[in-house]
Amino acid sequence: MNIKIPSVRFKLPHKNQNTDGGSLYIMCDNYSIYSDQSSRVLVDKTKSGKERPWRTKKLSNVNYYELLHILEFKKAERVKECGTVLEFKADEDTGHLKLFKTWFCKSRLCSLCNWRRAMKHSSQTKKIVAEVVRRKPKARWVFLTLTVKNVYDGEELNKSLSDMAQGFRRMMQYKKVAKNLIGFMRATEVTVNPIDNSYNQHMHVLLCVESTYFYNTENYINQKQWIQFWKRAMKLDYDPNVKVQIVKPKNKHKSDIQSAVDETAKYPIKDTDYMTDDEEKNLQRVADLEEGLHRKRLISYGGLLKEIHKELNLDDAEDGDLIHTDDEEDEASENAYSIVAIWNWERRNYFIKGDR
Ligand SMILES: [Zn+2]
Repeated sequence: MNIKIPSVRFKLPHKNQNTDGGSLYIMCDNYSIYSDQSSRVLVDKTKSGKERPWRTKKLSNVNYYELLHILEFKKAERVKECGTVLEFKADEDTGHLKLFKTWFCKSRLCSLCNWRRAMKHSSQTKKIVAEVVRRKPKARWVFLTLTVKNVYDGEELNKSLSDMAQGFRRMMQYKKVAKNLIGFMRATEVTVNPIDNSYNQHMHVLLCVESTYFYNTENYINQKQWIQFWKRAMKLDYDPNVKVQIVKPKNKHKSDIQSAVDETAKYPIKDTDYMTDDEEKNLQRVADLEEGLHRKRLISYGGLLKEIHKELNLDDAEDGDLIHTDDEEDEASENAYSIVAIWNWERRNYFIKGDR
């Protein structure tokens, strides 16, 4: 990697400029001691035979760490340690692995953590939706995408995300919205526009409404009205983009409700947005996104969905346990044995430590 001191908007702090003659260490080979112990590469497959993307996600985490390191973020070292040692329980009969122990950095832009979060969020939302359907079989679902104008730096992004959270709360209390509302789940996503390098922040909202919502114009909110509600709630002087989709409960292959759940359980930020070929751009984007997402809650539930989330005793998909993501529920069998995989910095892959 060719490191230049970038000449863009963020500032490098002065304190560390002379730590070692101006050069910055990127790689660490503390772990190379392990590389001789075994040459078996970690292979972790789901029950359907799909390989879990540990290596890809860790490689992306390493890229992210490198950018944070150049930007001199304190948390860079924590991000670097994310998922470096993975302990699995392997089933004696099937050889199937189940993640048992590791340490995750829980940073917002970390690909490893976002992958685990998305799995967890998706599995939690599925459980919640199933329970809502059980209790309220007549409930209907509406999928909203709420957008505002793009912003151009981290400070604006941070402010805009706070405004949107507030605006959303306000809009949910509007009489016409509230009267048929059973609950909601919302997830915020930020994308980068590659042409002008601006940021688009938007909310994906799965609304659960009473069937009366569709009865007549007194109850039904059409797209034009949603635009006006969102505009008023956000105190905007323009008509924002609002997408409204009615979710059909059943479908031959993947149900619409599942598609809507998947859409809200997507990664909040795509790593390809800050991993382009242009390093200065990447640095700028990471700096902006770190500032923009600082202390922001990106997932939240309301109404009956919130109650059920609590009743089912589900922990926080954003900051909770990222080991048990529940994509495969069953417990490890009694005959399970341990397997430890360690990230090898030189060979850029996970290798199994020793043998059982
Ligand atoms: Zn992480």
